[in-house]
Amino acid sequence: MDRENIEMITRLVMESLQKQEEKKECGFLVPIGVSARHIHLTQEDLETLFGPGYQLTKKKELMGGQFASNELVTIVGLKLRAIENVRILGPCRSKSQVEVSATDAIKLGVKAPIRDSGDTADSAPIALVGPKGALYLKEGCIVAARHIHMSPADAKAAGVHDGDCVSVKADNERGTVFSNVKIRVDDSFTLEMHIDTDEANASNIATGTTVTIVK
Ligand SMILES: [Zn+2]
Repeated sequence: MDRENIEMITRLVMESLQKQEEKKECGFLVPIGVSARHIHLTQEDLETLFGPGYQLTKKKELMGGQFASNELVTIVGLKLRAIENVRILGPCRSKSQVEVSATDAIKLGVKAPIRDSGDTADSAPIALVGPKGALYLKEGCIVAARHIHMSPADAKAAGVHDGDCVSVKADNERGTVFSNVKIRVDDSFTLEMHIDTDEANASNIATGTTVTIVK
């Protein structure tokens, strides 16, 4: 190969590398947090499952003043199909809610709709069994819609607002683009995109993986 060709090839390679760098830098980066199935309970429902006056005990702090508790229960769907050791998140809320993956819903035999957290009207019925009692929720079982938590400063930097829907790209072997990702802005939030275990497994990404907001 003559010198001119080598120079030309070198230049093309350098240009292509530079373009890749520029491409990487133009999106806003968001770390992933994979949410396993979990439960939010009212104080009243907690007491039905664990006994009068029971208080959740803290295992791990989460963002927004929430925590993973040490308490686990069994969730039971139709035809007594059950999943054991489902963790309760605290503190207690004004409405009980069970968040499962689509695969869990199939296993339980329930038709859980994809919903934002808290939006449980007409969602799937589910039963819960704790050490001191059982509980039937006529609605409350959902597959949580994917979303990104961020602070107002992050929202400004990313050029998005609370309630916006964005697309997000995972740049790995599977190269998945997630559309319809809801932005949630609050002072108590740290930057993180929450997806469920089905979404994480299917796209080959895990907690700590970084994805990019694409517009
Ligand atoms: Zn979340």
